[in-house]
Amino acid sequence: MERNTQSTDIPKWAALLVEAVNKPGLILEAYSAFHNYSLGNQLLALVQCYLRGIQPGPINTFPKWQELGRYVKRGERALTLCMPITRKRRDEEANSNGEVDGEHTFTSFVHRARWFVVSQTEGQELKATPIPQWNAEQALATLNIERIDFDSTDGNCQGFARKRQIAINPVAQLPHKTLFHEAGHVMLGHTAEGDFADGETTPRSLREVEAEAVALLCCESLGLEGAAYCRGYIQNWLTQGTGSNSDAIPEKSAQKIFRAADQIIRAGRTEPEQSTETEQ
Ligand SMILES: [Zn+2]
Repeated sequence: MERNTQSTDIPKWAALLVEAVNKPGLILEAYSAFHNYSLGNQLLALVQCYLRGIQPGPINTFPKWQELGRYVKRGERALTLCMPITRKRRDEEANSNGEVDGEHTFTSFVHRARWFVVSQTEGQELKATPIPQWNAEQALATLNIERIDFDSTDGNCQGFARKRQIAINPVAQLPHKTLFHEAGHVMLGHTAEGDFADGETTPRSLREVEAEAVALLCCESLGLEGAAYCRGYIQNWLTQGTGSNSDAIPEKSAQKIFRAADQIIRAGRTEPEQSTETEQ
């Protein structure tokens, strides 16, 4: 089960998302500086840098900086990021079928203040890390999403998503943006929800905002065309809602959006992934 413990001085995911929607360039700046981290953490880091007047740049934990031959300057305060913690738990209790399940793993999220930006450190010169390349076909293959032929006769339709298949209109105005939007529907679980007649389903309009927000995060992170269009759509939806504030996007939706965009971006990276968000 995923849980999110968030203290009051840390902005909520919905607030970060609305900030990103309203400030063109914010996501690109966050991605350029912190692309090894999840999208949510990239924005968290950038917002804290702004608030404290710190120059954004590579971030590491205290011991990781030591490994790299740098040390944190006296009096520097660590930045807070959100970290998943996976625990194993032996469950001796019988489940509903009367069987003993054995071992379970569960992930929870905690905020920890243990990261420092390069400008808070001194020591050996740091090698620049290039921004990784991104490949759409690799992303789809990794995410187990199949690209199928566009068979809709609706000329206005830019693309569609069914189960784990997506199709992009060959004459779509912004094929990349549509690909992110449709992959977003899949990764957000919308196309699976279609199979269930019962239970709660995301309202149609909220689904579109969620998918479009995934497209925005992907387009802007990767510097691809389409972010302006997504931004317009979401802003329009936000102002129709509660007046362009973060209350319009449920916190749970914001978390889902960050997670889905993150999965799509990571899946398409052509360089080996180095995870930096573990306990060190
Ligand atoms: Zn859609």
